[in-house]
Amino acid sequence: MQAILEGIAPDGGLYTLASFAQSGFDWKSVLKMDTLSIAAEILCLLLPNFSRAEMQALLRSAYENKFSSRELTPVVPVGDDFLLELFHGPTSAFKDVALCLLPHLMQTAMRKCGCTDEILVLTATSGDTGVAAMAGFCDVPGTRIIVFYPANGVSPIQRAQMVTQPGSNVKVCAVQGNFDDAQSGVKRIFSAAAQSLKQQGIRLSSANSINIGRLVPQIVYYFSAYAALLRAGRITLGDKVDFSVPTGNFGDILAGFIARELGLPVGRLICASNANNVLTDFLQTGCYDRRRPFRVTLSPSMDILVSSNLERLLYLLSGDEALVCALMTRLSSEGHYQIPQPLLEKLQSVFWAGCCDDGETLKAIRTLWDEHHYLCDTHTAVAWHVAQQYKAAFPGHPPLVILSTASPYKFPDAVLTALGSTGEAAGLAALEKLHALTGVPVPENLIAACSRQTRHFDRISPEDMLGYVLRQAEEKSWKA
Ligand SMILES: *Cc1c(COP(=O)(O)O)cnc(C)c1O
Repeated sequence: MQAILEGIAPDGGLYTLASFAQSGFDWKSVLKMDTLSIAAEILCLLLPNFSRAEMQALLRSAYENKFSSRELTPVVPVGDDFLLELFHGPTSAFKDVALCLLPHLMQTAMRKCGCTDEILVLTATSGDTGVAAMAGFCDVPGTRIIVFYPANGVSPIQRAQMVTQPGSNVKVCAVQGNFDDAQSGVKRIFSAAAQSLKQQGIRLSSANSINIGRLVPQIVYYFSAYAALLRAGRITLGDKVDFSVPTGNFGDILAGFIARELGLPVGRLICASNANNVLTDFLQTGCYDRRRPFRVTLSPSMDILVSSNLERLLYLLSGDEALVCALMTRLSSEGHYQIPQPLLEKLQSVFWAGCCDDGETLKAIRTLWDEHHYLCDTHTAVAWHVAQQYKAAFPGHPPLVILSTASPYKFPDAVLTALGSTGEAAGLAALEKLHALTGVPVPENLIAACSRQTRHFDRISPEDMLGYVLRQAEEKSWKA
């Protein structure tokens, strides 16, 4: 419970989960259940401090009436493959799956600890996390959230989603700098102010993907996808299924690995990267090397050179705390590390990796539309493209599920370009243009974000972030 509340361990390392192998999880029987019941089983197993009834109530308040699909995360057949659509939540991105639930987990964990402090969540975002976190925490009692985003580093739609977000406990502030400036600003606040705020009854927490409470809800959709293929008669119980995952911080694909550890017949996990292909090189050679230029791509949520959840995977696979600690130390001091050969072989027996540049991303969007009449976003396109590389390399592979992580309407400019549309269009006009071209329905929440009034105007320099948080914390309530 401590892990959910604090997000990061006192020594700066990440909390991880106890061994799964001994859990004796009855994965076969959960496959007969609906999505919310599967979620209750998995969450209770991995977060044993919560009772079944408690968890069921939490899941209902987190998800009911918030997702536009009854199944939450439906599976759609496209050609020979399946797309697992994770973007039917309140902000049209897959981060909703975890960030709808996390605030409720935190609130209940506080109550169970007998803790009456208020939770103040601080998050730096390059886009989707901030949007989904604000929506998730909006008006959850006992919590407040401040999101920092780089002033020129998020898409126009993502910016609109954040600066128009209602709720009396949410704040968003532009930082004059890049994502790293915002991120290191947040880290500084944690070390400089956590103690003094605690004395005022305010507990700092984070909503980034290193928080274990964000990881666990993502395991659920690997099971629900497998269950959907079973129901559709595309597999029989026990058959393997491969998953292709558009990867940034390695949280989503790590959840797939944990599903496999719990017994789900996951074949290969395909790690799909954009031009920031650190993970492709790592999974092919065992050498992690972040000493390379950072590239801004059309799939910005995957523009990452240090994937923080990889640390957890290395620990789960090796069980060797000293080794992982030495590797992470080397990464921060020298920018690279090499893992031992036996560990690399273990990794490669589960993971396959490939990458996709912007040109290939646009081509993939076009191909999916022309050949299958399926409209996808840029991140999903990366995963689809790499999945096709994988299929060419492994004829006779099992059925393949591609994780679709955002609505195409979150990145309308790139999708319009891919479809050959010319001319400028921004905001609502871009959404309407893409809709006119394809007839695919536009998610309500995106129309609303482009039409609502701006409520958040704050803009500060990175140096002022600490002062800003202290001033906000002092106000007893934020009237927007
Ligand atoms: C965050 C994000 C990803 C990457 O997920 P990780 O868990 O960081 O690997 C992929 N696609 C979209 C749209 C995202 O928002």
